[in-house]
Amino acid sequence: MKRIPFYGGNWKMNHALAQTEAYLQDFVNYAFPDSCEIVLFPPFTSFHLMQKYLGSTPISFGAQNFYFEESGAFTGEVSLSMLKDMGCTHVLTGHSERREIFGETDEMVRKKTIAALDLGLVPMVCVGETLEERQRGGTAEKIRSQVEAALQGMSEADTSKLLFAYEPIWAIGTGVNASQDDAREGIATVRGVLRNSYSDSLAQKIRIVYGGSVKPENIATYMREEGIDGGLVGGASLKAPSFYELIQNGTL
Ligand code: PEP
Repeated sequence: MKRIPFYGGNWKMNHALAQTEAYLQDFVNYAFPDSCEIVLFPPFTSFHLMQKYLGSTPISFGAQNFYFEESGAFTGEVSLSMLKDMGCTHVLTGHSERREIFGETDEMVRKKTIAALDLGLVPMVCVGETLEERQRGGTAEKIRSQVEAALQGMSEADTSKLLFAYEPIWAIGTGVNASQDDAREGIATVRGVLRNSYSDSLAQKIRIVYGGSVKPENIATYMREEGIDGGLVGGASLKAPSFYELIQNGTL
């Protein structure tokens, strides 16, 4: 089944206003391939610039984080309706940095994913194993348990709106990218859970990208693999020319 390639640029905690504006001034002028979806995930503080520069383009933007409650006494948090107000269309859930550094549990990932769907935002659910888990042969089990936990109680109709990213933790921000075989197998494991939990047609429809030290030089090797539908990109999305080159190189 033909799935539209997806490229997400996760800026993490990078780029103040001047850098964001300079980036966007370049980025909106590139001639991107028609046949892909591009979403930037900047810090909240840049959202108004995303709205200003991306509003009239096919490029979307999303949030790296949010809280699942609608409003109330949750100091420091941002709600989904606040994100929607700013023109945000996508959210990341389950990113390993949120899980590992900020203690987000599988249950929080599930609640955040459902809350985002309820408000009409598209969640990209991120899963992946640590180096220790890979070395002891626990990769598939870790991926399966994270995907199953995120999907618990979710209808097939809701699940069909999700995106997934397979991101081995040992490959994120390290420069050590997964081999194409490892990336393909990780993604096949995610797709296998979707097939077993719902149906083959749902599993074939959902886009699952690879993340972990993706660069302009290695994206094509992933995109040639069966089942890899794009990339979630950190470091190589921080400079507009690099992210543009990556998207171009991924378009085979
Ligand atoms: C990420 O932020 O999800 C990521 C994969 O980062 P990097 O591309 O820098 O490894």
